[in-house]
Amino acid sequence: MAEFTTEQDAVRETIHKFARKELAPQAAYWDRADAFPWDNLRKMAKVGLTGLRFPAAYGGSGVDATTLGIALEEVARFDHSCAIILCGCNITGRIFLQACKEIKDAVVPEIVQGRYLAAFASTESESGSEMRALRTTAKLTDGAYVLNGEKAMITFAGVAQGYLVLARTEEGGKEGISCLFVEADRPGIQIQRLDGFGWRSLKWGNIAFDEVQVPVDHLIGEKHNALPMLKSIVQEQRALTGLIALGTAKQALELAAEYAKIRHVYGKPLGKFEGIQFRMADDYTALEAARLVCYRALSLSERGAEEASTWSAMANLMGGETAYTVVNNAMDVYGGMGYSTEFPFERYLRDVKATQIANATLKMQIAQALLGKDYQPYA
Ligand SMILES: Cc1cc2nc3c(=O)[nH]c(=O)nc-3n(C[C@H](O)[C@H](O)[C@H](O)COP(=O)(O)OP(=O)(O)OC[C@H]3O[C@@H](n4cnc5c(N)ncnc54)[C@H](O)[C@@H]3O)c2cc1C
Repeated sequence: MAEFTTEQDAVRETIHKFARKELAPQAAYWDRADAFPWDNLRKMAKVGLTGLRFPAAYGGSGVDATTLGIALEEVARFDHSCAIILCGCNITGRIFLQACKEIKDAVVPEIVQGRYLAAFASTESESGSEMRALRTTAKLTDGAYVLNGEKAMITFAGVAQGYLVLARTEEGGKEGISCLFVEADRPGIQIQRLDGFGWRSLKWGNIAFDEVQVPVDHLIGEKHNALPMLKSIVQEQRALTGLIALGTAKQALELAAEYAKIRHVYGKPLGKFEGIQFRMADDYTALEAARLVCYRALSLSERGAEEASTWSAMANLMGGETAYTVVNNAMDVYGGMGYSTEFPFERYLRDVKATQIANATLKMQIAQALLGKDYQPYA
């Protein structure tokens, strides 16, 4: 990166206007409402955002990862949760392109139309960072997989119509793991809602699978070999998560800059004091630097470059950490009222915190790229 095309600049402007007009006014409401923002999903589908990364054959517009990044940054400025939902549609949803024709033809157009939401379920209570400890099993019995186990801390749990579940189809390490599509209404599924700090409108929870029958054609990709299939999806998701965090932080910084011009202390606007100016300058610089890392990670991932995994982990790490600092500093510029729910900073802070955790322990991956696999803690 880092030059955008004229078309990409136009996409940014259009989505910026859409999100400011259609999503911003309700963002605080949805954060507090005990409901998933289906209305917003439909609005975003109407303007083509849910199908950005899908091929035209499925009703999508087939844009590249950078253009999706631009869209998510702009949406995240006005409603962080909506950007995560779009990431779910355009990233998790794309896993269905590896499904059998019947499932692909049935589900993908629904995702593009904003009528279907899928959740990705990998984490378990005993296996978060350590994926090889995954214990959910899918045993082939009488022509169907029988799914048993539990998944923990899953975004969209209880609202998604389908789950993409990582399960063990063979004993052993990462090699015996497969990806299964499980409709949410199959008998034997139980949801336990969790109450989170941020990402509140998205819904979050644990999912128990008890003898759930899953037809064999619901296996997505190769049996025992889900992780290589998911590699590019995971890379893109991490870089985009970084950009979502930074989109929200950019909004916070711009609000703080505006406020620094109108709030007077000791007879001068706040913005005339170097203590305020210099911190904003540092935040602006860090924010733009982190954006560059995210866009570079997206372009490496799109090219299938070897170093894409490390860069996307760095993008997610740097995006999340930078965003948290920038939002926290913006809240300070507003003084005491910055802490109140009258202003969006507390919501921003809660939401960007989730971007630091939701996509795994990123530093392990980066350290391994630097030190080599012999330095894996579990080698
Ligand atoms: C808001 C949110 C949304 C989520 N959504 C999903 C979802 O949709 N699907 C899904 O599958 N999962 C989801 N998760 C789960 C998330 O992926 C895990 O929380 C994450 O991978 C960390 O796993 P863990 O919670 O088991 O922590 P652990 O693996 O137990 O780690 C605990 C702490 O130790 C650190 N740590 C772990 N290993 C090492 C190491 N080798 N060296 C040094 N430090 C280490 C970690 O960074 C962390 O700080 C979500 C989590 C959150 C908070």
